[in-house]
Order: sequence, then structure tokens, then C-alpha cells
Amino acid sequence: MTEALYERDGKAIGSLQKLRFFPLAVAGGKGATLIEESGRELIDFSGAWGAASLGYGHPAIVEAVSRAVANPAGASILSASNEPAVALAEKLLASFPGKGTHKIWFGHSGSDANEAVSRAVMEATGRTGLVSFTGAYHGCTIGSMAFSGHTVQAGAAKAEGLLQLPYPDPYRPYRDDPSGDAVLKLFRAKLREAEPKSFAAAFIEPILSDGGVIVPPEGFLQKFAALCREHDILVVCDEVKVGLGRSGKLHCFEHEGFVPDILVLGKGLGGGLPLSAVIAPKRILDCASAFAMQTLQGNPICAAAGLAVLDTIEKEGLSDAAGQKGQVLHRKLLQLADKHALIGDVRGRGLACGVELVKQGGSRVPVKRETAKLIYRAYELGLVLYYVGMSGNVLEITPPLTITEDEIDRAINILDQAFADISNGLVPDSITEGFAAW
Ligand SMILES: *Cc1c(COP(=O)(O)O)cnc(C)c1O
Repeated sequence: MTEALYERDGKAIGSLQKLRFFPLAVAGGKGATLIEESGRELIDFSGAWGAASLGYGHPAIVEAVSRAVANPAGASILSASNEPAVALAEKLLASFPGKGTHKIWFGHSGSDANEAVSRAVMEATGRTGLVSFTGAYHGCTIGSMAFSGHTVQAGAAKAEGLLQLPYPDPYRPYRDDPSGDAVLKLFRAKLREAEPKSFAAAFIEPILSDGGVIVPPEGFLQKFAALCREHDILVVCDEVKVGLGRSGKLHCFEHEGFVPDILVLGKGLGGGLPLSAVIAPKRILDCASAFAMQTLQGNPICAAAGLAVLDTIEKEGLSDAAGQKGQVLHRKLLQLADKHALIGDVRGRGLACGVELVKQGGSRVPVKRETAKLIYRAYELGLVLYYVGMSGNVLEITPPLTITEDEIDRAINILDQAFADISNGLVPDSITEGFAAW
């Protein structure tokens, strides 16, 4: 039955928007579990790339969305106000340091939010340059690709005056400097070379997500932000994947002892519905009107879902829980690393974990094929997770925040088995044929 749906999907839906790793076709979901048409249940260690923040079918979302859709307060914030959107904006503002100084912009995706920010900061400051990092994934629209740095978008046109810095990667350090100071030194040199007032904003993911789940060295973000401020460059934190509780704190930047000027949220904010948000100073979000809008933005149904997500994170203490469960997960992943030579590095914060696969023998050479085979095997054994990274060799673990420790246990056992099966040569190379992914 699963095959039938997957086959119809292949015939009816184009490849442009597909990033497929194995023939998963989902018929339903509950909690952190996905259910195939055959009734087979899989633990979702991806959480739909982090979008399923509360898992599937959480009662708070069911209730909030059902209520909003039964008596919808219009369909948009463009030409009419609505209660859910305003309440969500107020709640997001209350979560952010700097009371009374900021406002909200709503979108449908991380891509449109990052693109809107890039346009607004240029409009508001009169500066046209942007700073970003190699490996960063800020979206898949022309505007958001223009300052992204992921290999998957190598062919996309980059913004004029874009300065792209190497992301400080403690496992593969730029200029052999795991402290990240060499990156800051390069940034300083580039700032000296550039015309004054060249750069409007610097975009940074506080954990580089699609670029390989890389946690920057301690203190880097603080120093980076200070340098930006010396030059009046706005610091934009793209927390689309790692924000809203996932890292163990509501906002990931809270781990780093600094506050960005602008925060971008998406994925988990809608709990499965399309919703993104930007928190930015008034002078940015009020710099023009009718400037960055799409018809359904601020629609009350997605806003109701967003409110339910934030309320639930608060009521169920999901940020702290993500920190605690993340520690358990991290410890178990380290145990796997002791057993399986393919694992070169385990890293992350809370329920945003990365496992980097490398050639055996301490060389740190990425192994993409084994990574693809590993997640395929895990899928066969009942676990969904995908890979990321500039070399396609990092397992990304971003499960629903509501995942249980028992589910984490079972998922780890499946990974253990999958690693063993790969090492024992039980998984043929041909298994991933037709799944180019990225
Ligand atoms: C996924 C992602 C985006 C893009 O979000 P979409 O909803 O896919 O448009 C932007 N930034 C980061 C950090 C992401 O992980």
C-alpha cells in the first residue's frame, strides 16, 4: 500500500520540491510517530526537519486550529486585523528582550522571512551589503538564496556586495583555529578593506543546521556581534530550525550571552502549519508600508497554531525538557560513537544533534554514501532521520520536542543496528539508487 502511494506521488508531483532519502509515504501521525499506509510505525527523529515541534496530532494544535477554522477571523493581516495574529505578535514580543522597541512581521516560511529581512534592512539603512556564512541555508527563494552558502545552491546568484565568512567549525577549523578567532580576524580585515557603511546586516545561524549541525565555539557569537555593532551592522539570528525550545532554551541565542537585533523564526513555530515570524526593531519593520507582503500572511488559522505552539512550550516546560532529553540523547550518541568507527563527531544542543560520519582511521574524510545507506537502513528498521552537511555526511536529529525517553531509547537501538549492518556489509550500495537527495 505504501508503495502504491509512493508511486502515485512519483507520477503526480514533480521533483523540483523533493528531497527524498527513502520511499517514505505517510498516512498519519501521532506524537513522535509516523504511520505508513501499511500501519507500520516509525519514530520520527527528524520531526519533519524540525517543523513538527509538538509532534503529530498534539491536542493543543487540534483544538486551536479547529476553533480558528470554524469561525475564521478573515484570512490575512494585510488589510484587516485579527485577534490570533495580534495575540501571537504580542506573545513573541514578550519572549524577546527589549520591551516596546520591537515589532513583528509574519510570513509562511523561513525563506520568505529571511528574504523580507534582507530587503527591509537595506531599505531602512540605505546600505546594500550583507554578511553571511559558508554552509548557511537561509531559504530557497531568489532573495534568500542570494545570501545563503549551502552547496545545494551552488548555482544560485549571490547578492552584490555579499561577504561570506567561513563558519567557525570546531571539528574542521578554519586556519586550524578551533576558537573561531581566525574567522573574526578575517572579518576584521574585510571590514577594513570595505567602504565604510557597506553592510546593512549579518545573518548567522546560532547552530549551522543544514550546513552540518555545527555548534560555534564558546564566545564566538558574542565577539562576532560586538564586531558587527562597532560597524553598525545589524545582527540577524536565523533560528528557523533551532529556535523555540529545541536548543534547551526558548531562543538559541540565550546560550551565547548576546541578543541579536533581529530574530527569524519558522518551521516549529507553526507546529506543522506554514508560519514564520521576524522580530525586529520598529525602525526596520516600520520603514515602509506595503513593502513585503503576501496575501495570506498573518492568517488567523496559522496564527492560532503558532499561539498553541508557544503556549504548549510554556505550559509543558518543553524548553527545559528539550535540554534534559538532549543530554540523554547526546550521551547515548556518544556511546554509539564508542562502538562504531564510522562516527567521527557528535555535537549539538538540546534536541538539535548532529552525528558526523567519516572514514575509519582518524582521517575525518566525509563518507556520503555510507551516510545515505545508513539512514536508508534506519528507515527499513523503523526510524526516520535525514542527513545534512556540506559533504552530505551528517545525521541531523531534530525530533519533536515531545518525544519520550523511551522513544529516544528505541531510536538509538535502531541506529546501533543500522551502523552494525553497514559495517558488516549487509547493506548494498544499490539500495539508495533513485534517491539522489542532496
Ligand atoms: C529550513 C530553514 C530555512 C528555510 O525555511 P523554509 O520554511 O524551508 O523556507 C531558513 N533558515 C534555516 C536555518 C532553516 O533551517
